Amino acid sequence: MQFSDLGLSEKVLRAVEDSGYTTPTPIQAQAIPHVLAGRDVLGIAQTGTGKTAAFTLPMLCRLEQGRARARVPRTLILEPTRELAAQVEESFNKYGAQHKLNVALLIGGVSFGDQEAKIMRGADVLIATPGRLLDFFERGKLLLTGIEILVIDEADRMLDMGFIPDIEKICKLVPFTRQTLFFSATMPPEITRLTEQFLHNPARVEVARAATTASTITQVLVASHGGGDKRETLRRLLRAAEGLKNAIVFCNRKRDVAILYKSLEKHGFPVGALHGDMDQSARMASLDAFKNGAVDILVCSDVAARGLDIPDVSHVFNFDVPTHAEDYVHRIGRTGRAGRTGHAYTIVTDHDTKYIAQIEDLIKKQIDWEGPRLGELAPAEYVERDRARSARPGERSRRSGRGERGERDRAERPARERSRSSDETARAPRQKAARPGADEPRHQDSPRPESRRDEPRRDDQRRKSASRPADDDPPVIGMGDHVPSFLLRPVRTKAVKTAD
Ligand code: AMP
Repeated sequence: MQFSDLGLSEKVLRAVEDSGYTTPTPIQAQAIPHVLAGRDVLGIAQTGTGKTAAFTLPMLCRLEQGRARARVPRTLILEPTRELAAQVEESFNKYGAQHKLNVALLIGGVSFGDQEAKIMRGADVLIATPGRLLDFFERGKLLLTGIEILVIDEADRMLDMGFIPDIEKICKLVPFTRQTLFFSATMPPEITRLTEQFLHNPARVEVARAATTASTITQVLVASHGGGDKRETLRRLLRAAEGLKNAIVFCNRKRDVAILYKSLEKHGFPVGALHGDMDQSARMASLDAFKNGAVDILVCSDVAARGLDIPDVSHVFNFDVPTHAEDYVHRIGRTGRAGRTGHAYTIVTDHDTKYIAQIEDLIKKQIDWEGPRLGELAPAEYVERDRARSARPGERSRRSGRGERGERDRAERPARERSRSSDETARAPRQKAARPGADEPRHQDSPRPESRRDEPRRDDQRRKSASRPADDDPPVIGMGDHVPSFLLRPVRTKAVKTAD
């Protein structure tokens, strides 16, 4: 099957060729002819399957005829998050380079004025998050009576985020005669009900179940003790992981994203953060820094990371085991994309066994343990394992079989980590990324994991003992203990007369 067999226009075919795509993905091959024929489509597909182009390309063809009027957009695409909306906009800009269409983005965290100006010019394509769209509509700045095509993307995520009432409202505001394209990775009952209500005789196109994990991803479980020890475990994995180029680290809660981000930064890792409380520009800056390699590690919450198209992520770490088994599938789907190999590590504590069982049930496979299983070691022994492994040079080289180079890599890494952490490009998103956490109670933000471990207290001298990794030493602040001699010189001051 070729793109030219699908009935796409000349202009669109040229754009596809310029993008370097040679063959359509299964979702594209199945969905595009239906969209071009004007049928409603129910697409059951995850991100990473090429589903964005599956609706973007035929929409461009349909938009070649006709023009948009002020305040009356012609097509509407609903996305659950701002990042996904921005990604779809990028996709229209890429494939629609020859079309001279007006594409408007309506997302939270961006000024109303700029967005209104774009809608006033007449939008051929309006990409929006549900809340901001309704906000605009209710202020009378937008009419939805001209919508010819409505796309509802990532519907199951909309459900998780509580957007279904908004979606229902929007579906009732657009003309009954519009064409609806509906995409979801899974079909829980609430989503099925929505499709029955708002799709008319849809063509059902299904490419992969959300319960399947790519066979190119190596999945392992790593036992750890809770609290700060999980951070120790993660640091050990980050230092020792085979072939690590870049990694996404998932936490279950936004608050923990901020804590972990600060902790990794303190330990010298080039790290960025992404979670729902960050303002739009900070989120975009974090994402860009990760995409362009200014930071190697991105700490994320599920909502912020869902559906992000970041090609070629070598590793995913579940710092927390997800409590919804499907989130596990989505998370580890960030790596091993498009047939590449990927690695997924999940840190497991005593509290997580129930969730691991649910995940294994869903993916219909047992995940191997790396090292001792949960319960095989006493809590303090997990800590010792992580510290010893982190500190012992050559560990990584033995695991990766890279001999001397591996050793050199390990020896150099802390320095490289530190030097990169001073890089301005990386710093900007990091500083911004940390800020959202500031509205949370101070103690939650404070990365002082070591002091709270339930292991015996050590005195300062022992804390610096050789068994600890070199970069665990407290950072030197200002000039440290050294006082330059010019500061010790006596200072001569003139007598100053004061009023009293
Ligand atoms: P999506 O599922 O829409 O997030 O797309 C995942 C990735 O696949 C994106 O990086 C697209 O640029 C890429 N992609 C989409 N269609 C094709 C294709 N036909 N051939 C190769 N890559 C594609």
